[in-house]
Amino acid sequence: MDFELTKEQKAIQKAAWDFANGEFTKEYALECDQNHTFPEDLFKKAAGLGLVGIHLPEEYGGQGYGLLEAVLVCEAMCRKDPGLGMAINLGAFASQIIALFGTEEQKLAYLPQVASGDLMTGAAFTEPDHGSDITDMATTAMREGGEYVINGSKTFITNGLNAGVISFLCKTDLKANPPHRGLSLIAVETNREGFEATDAGPKMGLHGSTTAELSLKNVRVPVSNLLGQENRGFYQSLEFFNGSRVEVAAQALGGAQAAFDRVVSYVKQRQQFGRRLADLQVTQHKVADMATKIEAARLITYKAAWTYDNKGPNPSLSSMAKFYAARAAVEIADEAIQMLGGNGYFTENEVERIFRDVRVTEIYEGTREIQKNTIASNILGKQ
Ligand SMILES: Cc1cc2nc3c(=O)[nH]c(=O)nc-3n(C[C@H](O)[C@H](O)[C@H](O)COP(=O)(O)OP(=O)(O)OC[C@H]3O[C@@H](n4cnc5c(N)ncnc54)[C@H](O)[C@@H]3O)c2cc1C
Repeated sequence: MDFELTKEQKAIQKAAWDFANGEFTKEYALECDQNHTFPEDLFKKAAGLGLVGIHLPEEYGGQGYGLLEAVLVCEAMCRKDPGLGMAINLGAFASQIIALFGTEEQKLAYLPQVASGDLMTGAAFTEPDHGSDITDMATTAMREGGEYVINGSKTFITNGLNAGVISFLCKTDLKANPPHRGLSLIAVETNREGFEATDAGPKMGLHGSTTAELSLKNVRVPVSNLLGQENRGFYQSLEFFNGSRVEVAAQALGGAQAAFDRVVSYVKQRQQFGRRLADLQVTQHKVADMATKIEAARLITYKAAWTYDNKGPNPSLSSMAKFYAARAAVEIADEAIQMLGGNGYFTENEVERIFRDVRVTEIYEGTREIQKNTIASNILGKQ
């Protein structure tokens, strides 16, 4: 067993860190948080360095690396600043659906633009009445000649306001029993007539990434926009989550480390009762707890990514990585606020923003509870 990254992986990790360290400033992160703006210039710069298309195939403009290298990039950026790192990581959200299931034409049409930072992507599963449970959808895509006519609404969709193409999970067979056998993934370009996106409203964190309500009224797309096989969309979505959940784990891991880094520098300089906070045993134990959780989160996240790349998808391991790293990030960011005292509560010192940003890693792409359901069903069988 070898726990060392390869030389090449270390170089990728360093390139991502050098980029984030050089380009992400506290002022800009605050500006994106307060003005709710996507860091488009940084997304384009990251793309220019090959960091956005890191695990897209080379023949479609990507770097051809695996999930582990994508995890290293995401972790490094989120370590410098989770708000900016997560927004950039999410800029190409679900482009893997196209990479996994798209036809040659679809891949050529979209992926090079994603890798160059010229096209943002998204995926729309969630509906007002279908959140954790995506075994049925109210959004329908009915065939009419050579087209699908799509009607329905989706909620909480990342990049909904700025993506150029979004993969929609729609019902294509109204009679399918069980219903999940009648769902399909369909690419919808957001400039299609009948497509409307509106901001989902103020949210706790992740302000650098837009979240939208999407409405589709008789949106027509050619049947060639089908991604993968008709009526296999539910299974394809789960396949996609096997990889994407590990990327969310990497967001959380970087966010946990970001909070921890700020704690360590704070407790070394803050003095109370004539001693540095770092000299109090209670602080030392908290630091030890945090460091151990981060190490465990890193090990499970890297293992899940490595397993995905080398042995194939392992849904339970992907869920464990997402569940554990996200929990660790939320606990560590919360404790970081406590350890900075009043300063922790103020925006200037970043940890309150880190807490707000990482909190969503326990919610999107399957809540903490849904990850536990996946893990348990692997052990106990489907209930
Ligand atoms: C910022 C943000 C961005 C998002 N981006 C996207 C996106 O790009 N695309 C997209 O499709 N969706 C997106 N989502 C939606 C997200 O995936 C859903 O919010 C999430 O899957 C939960 O669904 P829900 O909100 O309907 O909660 P519900 O499903 O109503 O769940 C409510 C609570 O009940 C629990 N629960 C539900 N069912 C079970 C069960 N069987 N066992 C145990 N507990 C259960 C949940 O864990 C949760 O705690 C985003 C959400 C947010 C907040």
